[in-house]
Amino acid sequence: GVALDIKDFNLWYGETQALFDTTFPIQKGLVTALIGPSGCGKSTLLRSLNRMNDLVDGLRISGKIEVDGFDIYGKGVDVIALRKRMGMVFQKPNPFAMSIYDNVTYPLRVDGVTKKSILDDTVERCLRSAALWDEAKDRLHDSALGMSGGQQQRLCIARGIASDPEVLLMDEPCSALDPIATAKIENLISQLAGTYTIVIVTHSMTQAARVSHNTGFMYLGRLIEYGATE
Ligand code: ADP
Ligand code: ADP
Repeated sequence: GVALDIKDFNLWYGETQALFDTTFPIQKGLVTALIGPSGCGKSTLLRSLNRMNDLVDGLRISGKIEVDGFDIYGKGVDVIALRKRMGMVFQKPNPFAMSIYDNVTYPLRVDGVTKKSILDDTVERCLRSAALWDEAKDRLHDSALGMSGGQQQRLCIARGIASDPEVLLMDEPCSALDPIATAKIENLISQLAGTYTIVIVTHSMTQAARVSHNTGFMYLGRLIEYGATE
């Protein structure tokens, strides 16, 4: 099935058009890579999928992005609910300056969950899903800022899945990491596929080949080719 259906999508930052006539489906449960040179619009497209771009002054769009037949740019859309369905992971790991435990439970606490048993279960489940439990279980109440970059990025993934999203959006999640940490994140992405629909921005063709089922090639704001990665 289709998780996100992008239809004739155009985007302008003020007078500058950054995306042109973008049309393609993002398939449920698969990993879709967006690849292309710097400045071609990959991040812009990724941030359009959960309306992170709303924060940018002078932003204008046309066209549609549909989730379950529902235009996310349509009238009366609950943007907060939409963002909860889409966990986001950034290039630079950005754990909050709080404990590992509090990082993972943050999305639940924002939602008003206070029950310790629920929070404890979530921490274990999400850290296991992010392949971080063994490394983190004895230091749950230590600051997340003491972890390595790769551990911090897996923690951000654990935090991203704590609110039970359907989609994970990843913007060059490995480009600040060393090769070993990168390989761990790539394996993790493959494990999370199926449970989640994953969209990953990368400038690495080899990374797209390793982790993705489908690839979109972008150039100067246009999706110039899209299909099975192989
Ligand atoms: P990529 O992720 O492929 O490097 P981006 O989506 O970051 O590309 O950028 C696409 C184009 O949009 C670039 O020309 C960039 O300068 C421009 N752009 C990105 N963000 C903004 C912004 N907040 N305001 C104005 N222009 C922007
Ligand atoms: P609720 O408070 O139960 O989330 P909503 O009216 O916000 O009630 O949402 C009803 C349904 O529509 C839910 O399944 C929700 O996940 C989905 N939904 C809400 N906002 C969006 C959106 N922007 N895009 C796609 N689906 C949405």
